[in-house]
Amino acid sequence: MRSLDSDSSESATPCEKHDASFQPSMEKGTLYVVPTPIGNLEDITLRALRVLKECDLVLAEDTRHTGQLLKHFESKKPMLSYHKFNEAARKDQILERLKQGEQLALVSDAGTPGISDPGQRIISEAIAHGFRVEPLPGACAITTALSACGLPTDEFHFIGFLDRKSARRRRRLEACIDIKGTLVLYESPHRIEKLLEELNDIMPERNVVLARELTKKFEQWVRGTATALWARRSTIKSKGEFVVLIQSS
Ligand code: SAM
Repeated sequence: MRSLDSDSSESATPCEKHDASFQPSMEKGTLYVVPTPIGNLEDITLRALRVLKECDLVLAEDTRHTGQLLKHFESKKPMLSYHKFNEAARKDQILERLKQGEQLALVSDAGTPGISDPGQRIISEAIAHGFRVEPLPGACAITTALSACGLPTDEFHFIGFLDRKSARRRRRLEACIDIKGTLVLYESPHRIEKLLEELNDIMPERNVVLARELTKKFEQWVRGTATALWARRSTIKSKGEFVVLIQSS
């Protein structure tokens, strides 16, 4: 069995980083964390496809949504719903299946499970019960946006979604003013204008990047100071999905 313990792995020299011969068979009793595309179906990895076709069961945030993905990629694996409303109730059932040696693939509707998506809880439980948890690299809106935003990426701070309530949103943003590194957050299209107003009030001079509909047909990048974006808010489409990045002072 391959070990994932930090002290038992040998580090590769740079020329060994891509080892084409390393295609290990899947391990029994393992929870695989499998990213899926955030818009463009081409962004699934070869390894994710293999795990989705060879696993015993797919744990899906929404079985209808994941069912379409599996159908597209010709996987006929069974699914079990795993989402924020049933994650506590599903825990024992999932741990029991791992105990029986099953290979489980955890997916969310889009991107990386556990990142502003269900998954973190069962991942923690699986680790606590001594099961292997193996992450696959892949699509994530945070890293996709960071990689082309043009703001510094040597240090960044991700805060997920802001609260819906105005006072809490403002308090959270004010608490982030002194954070070093680029601030990254997810925002609903319904609140993007509200966010621009808040940024204009709280950090008007900061450079802001709106990364909209990444990897999709209408991908769009909007860049400017918080004040400039607030001034041109009527020209910014408030539809689709947004990652918002804010340069530190
Ligand atoms: N787990 C996902 C990931 O790895 O990115 C994030 C899931 S979270 C429920 C959904 C939010 O991610 C959206 O509201 C948006 O802020 C961001 N997002 C997801 N896909 C996106 C895309 N294609 N373009 C821009 N933002 C996206």
